[in-house]
Amino acid sequence: MAKTIDDAIIIGGGHNGLVCAFYLARAGLKVRILERRGLVGGAAVTEEFHPGFRNSVASYTVSLLNPKVIADMKLAHHGLRILERPISNFLPQEDGRYLKLGGGLDRTRAEFRRA
Ligand SMILES: Cc1cc2nc3c(=O)[nH]c(=O)nc-3n(C[C@H](O)[C@H](O)[C@H](O)COP(=O)(O)OP(=O)(O)OC[C@H]3O[C@@H](n4cnc5c(N)ncnc54)[C@H](O)[C@@H]3O)c2cc1C
Repeated sequence: MAKTIDDAIIIGGGHNGLVCAFYLARAGLKVRILERRGLVGGAAVTEEFHPGFRNSVASYTVSLLNPKVIADMKLAHHGLRILERPISNFLPQEDGRYLKLGGGLDRTRAEFRRA
């Protein structure tokens, strides 16, 4: 097996590991990421959870991703598209009623009045 020399080894290819690897590599370091799964992304990974339906299977909102990281990594160029959710939570009740929360305080208040 050929001998390779890495400047940095990152254990785990979740989004923090990937972002670290990007900045280290951009600074000229030779970086290796070791990911135990067959795909990278960690808890922010998109997977097909049912034939034809893809979604992030754990993390579901983009809340703290720094816009500088998005720009530096040219994520929009690589296909990142952030979609606004019309509602934040759908809460079904046992009696068949439901609450659709989010979309602003007025809309949430109206939903409680309706239910
Ligand atoms: C159910 C759930 C919902 C969430 N929802 C949101 C949300 O909506 N919005 C939000 O901003 N955040 C959310 N979070 C938090 C967010 O997902 C985490 O903060 C983020 O994923 C952390 O990223 P990370 O790269 O540090 O770790 P992770 O995403 O956990 O990635 C770690 C990676 O390391 C790999 N790994 C671990 N051990 C080893 C090893 N020994 N060898 C090789 N590889 C290894 C794992 O397979 C994984 O790919 C949620 C978390 C959970 C669990």
